[in-house]
Order: sequence, then structure tokens, then C-alpha cells
Amino acid sequence: MAANDYYASLGVEKNASDAEIKKAYRKLALKYHPDRNPGDKASEDKFKQINEAYSCLSDAQKRANYDRYGSAEGPGAGFGGFGAGAGGAGFGGFSDVFEDLFGAAFGAGFGGAGGRTRAARGTDLRYDLDITLEEAVFGAEKEITVPRWMRCDTCDGSGAKPGTSPTTCATCKGHGEVRTQQGFFSMVRTCPRCNGAGRIISDPCGACRGGGKIRRERAISVKVPAGVDNGIRLKMTGEGELGGNGGPPGDLYIVLNVAEHPVFHRDGDDLGCDFHISFAQAALGAEFTVPTLDGKGAALRVPAGTAPHEVFRLRGKGAKSLRGAFHGDQLVRVVIDVPKKLTDRQKELLREFEGLSSHSAGIYGATGKQFHGADDKHRHDKGNTSHDKGGAPHGKGGAPHDKGVVEKLGDTVRDFFR
Ligand SMILES: [Zn+2]
Ligand SMILES: [Zn+2]
Repeated sequence: MAANDYYASLGVEKNASDAEIKKAYRKLALKYHPDRNPGDKASEDKFKQINEAYSCLSDAQKRANYDRYGSAEGPGAGFGGFGAGAGGAGFGGFSDVFEDLFGAAFGAGFGGAGGRTRAARGTDLRYDLDITLEEAVFGAEKEITVPRWMRCDTCDGSGAKPGTSPTTCATCKGHGEVRTQQGFFSMVRTCPRCNGAGRIISDPCGACRGGGKIRRERAISVKVPAGVDNGIRLKMTGEGELGGNGGPPGDLYIVLNVAEHPVFHRDGDDLGCDFHISFAQAALGAEFTVPTLDGKGAALRVPAGTAPHEVFRLRGKGAKSLRGAFHGDQLVRVVIDVPKKLTDRQKELLREFEGLSSHSAGIYGATGKQFHGADDKHRHDKGNTSHDKGGAPHGKGGAPHDKGVVEKLGDTVRDFFR
């Protein structure tokens, strides 16, 4: 198993001294460090390998075990066990070794400098998009403009004036970092001359002032899918800020804010609205065309004897579900308007109606049984009454309604109307 020949990994002899092992490791670790080889999988594997080798051979006990049993853990563990352990602990454990050897300052300096020259993914952006309820329910195509950094067209991103080109920094020879030896420690810091860029622009581009990028409004077409709701985020891959040093761009997240609708309110896939009818229509039953969000309207038959705030369901007239092909419903709550002003003729007819009515005012339980009747003196207009206290409770006994179109709902949907 060549991968686990630790001596070969570090390129040293079996009888190498501790100092030789340390020296060999140090040389290889610097060469294969991921910060210096961004995106290079082979280097990364090699780096893990030499780290694993060094963490074993630098420890007298582990090295003795390895020499004798072929495993740092000693007899019994075997290559498999060790390999799995080292692979799992892998990188975290390794950086400890690295810092032990080179010092934390080295690691920090290295990372800092690496961050500048390494390819970096661009920042994600967020855009709050206001849409109407109609757009949320039926979907829409929206044009938005997003300000973001773009590659400068004038210099093609180089930052140098057209016709000129950046020169390699002489101080760091283009590495962006300078290494100094301080006794045992090797320190790496960002190159002070080029600030880590590795290049010097003596004649900067006028359009971007040498930065190589320009802040610009960019028009983006957003397809809002049908059925979205308030707060939903649409991800547009790659529409965020540009990446650094050739890294991939970030993503753009569009957060939807659905404006309140003057008529309809939304609850999941259902749409709710209030529909006002007269008390005569509620009592006698009537047919209506109820407005729907798509503007087409839908037939609603309110049966005779409909109570205030009864809710009717118009199947499939709600929003399309994001989770499937089905649609929610439109829930129509009937509001019964009691007239504030009556003509003399209307009053006369209502008195006559009341005289014929068997209704008894009072408090009724859920079963429709009256537990408290009202005194006659609470009645507004005493006419020629024949008030029957034993009359039928209200509400029930209306005409059967059209099951194909509407369905009358009970208290379960009351919460829907706030
Ligand atoms: Zn430019
Ligand atoms: Zn430099």
C-alpha cells in the first residue's frame, strides 16, 4: 500500500532522523498547502498524505508502532482502522500539526495572503421584490435592476489602461506574499508593495480606476412561478457579485413581498373574501356571481336560511399549489347587511313580517336549544304580534344547495377570517 508508506510519502529513508523527517515534511507541506494550490485535488490529497505520514513519524511511539506493525496505533488496529481515522480527522488534525511546526502566526499570515490571491466565490445578493396577489397566484415575469460589481469592459478586468498591461510585482515576484525567516519560524505576510495582488498597475484604467470592476445596474428578468407566497425566496444561481480571482459568482436571492389585496386575503393555497348580501337574500336564498381573482367570477348559490358569516367554498378557485398541480379554493364568507335606513313602506312590510314570524329572541346553545328568551319589551316595535315562544330556532332548514359548485362549511373555517 504505497499510499500508506509514510517514509516514501515524505521522501525519507527508513532510518531518517527526527530532524530529517521534520525538514522533509516542512518542505512538502509548503509545496502542497491548499492555500497555494487552490482547487487542485491532487495537491490536496498529497497534502493530506504527507500530514498523515508526519503525524505518525514525528511521534516516537507511533513511529515505533508503525515500524513494527505497519500502523501507528500498534497491533490490532491495522491499516484500515488507521486509514479511516486519519481520513476522518483529516484536515482538522492536520492544521494542528502544521501550526505546531510552523507556528500559528505562520498559519494566519498564510491564510490571509492566500485569501487575496486565491479564487473566491462572489457574495450572495438579496433583492426584495414587491408583487401583487394576482402575480403571486398566477405567476409573472418581472424585470428588476440589481446593482452589482461587473468586470470593467474598458480594460477587460485587468485594471490597466487599454494598451498597457500590469507588470508583475518585483517585491513578491507575483506571489502576492513575502516570506521572511525569523529564526525557526517562517513568516508569510501580504506583499506591502502590491497589497497581495501580485501585479503592479502603473497606468490604471480610467473607467474603473484600476480596480478592474465597475458598479452597474444590471437588468435581470425574474420568472415568478404561479402559487408563490409572501416571504418565498427565489434563487438565481450565479447572479450575485462576481467572484474574486476567477472564482465563481455568488447567487442572487429574490425575496417576495406580496402586497395586501383590497378584496382577497390569502391562507396557504386558499383565497378568502367577504361577500355582502341583504337579509332578505339570506332568508330567501339567491344566486350571485362572486368576483374571483382571475376576474372571471364564479356562480354562488346562497341557500335560503343562510346565517351571517357562513362560508362557502368555491373549489379550485384559489392559488395553484407550489407543491403540486392542484389548486386551493376560494372561501366566500357571507356578510348579511342590515339596512340602517328604511322607508315607511319597508318598515310596514317588516312589521307585517315580524307579526307573522315565529322567531324568539334569546340565547341559543350549540344544539339550537334556547336557554334564555327575551322579554317582549326589548323588541323595537310592538305591532300586532303573535309571538310564539316555542318556535323553531333559526338557521336550519334552508333549501338544499348546489353541491356541484359550492359546499357550505362549518366553524372549522372561521379562523380563516380574522
Ligand atoms: Zn477598467
Ligand atoms: Zn508584490
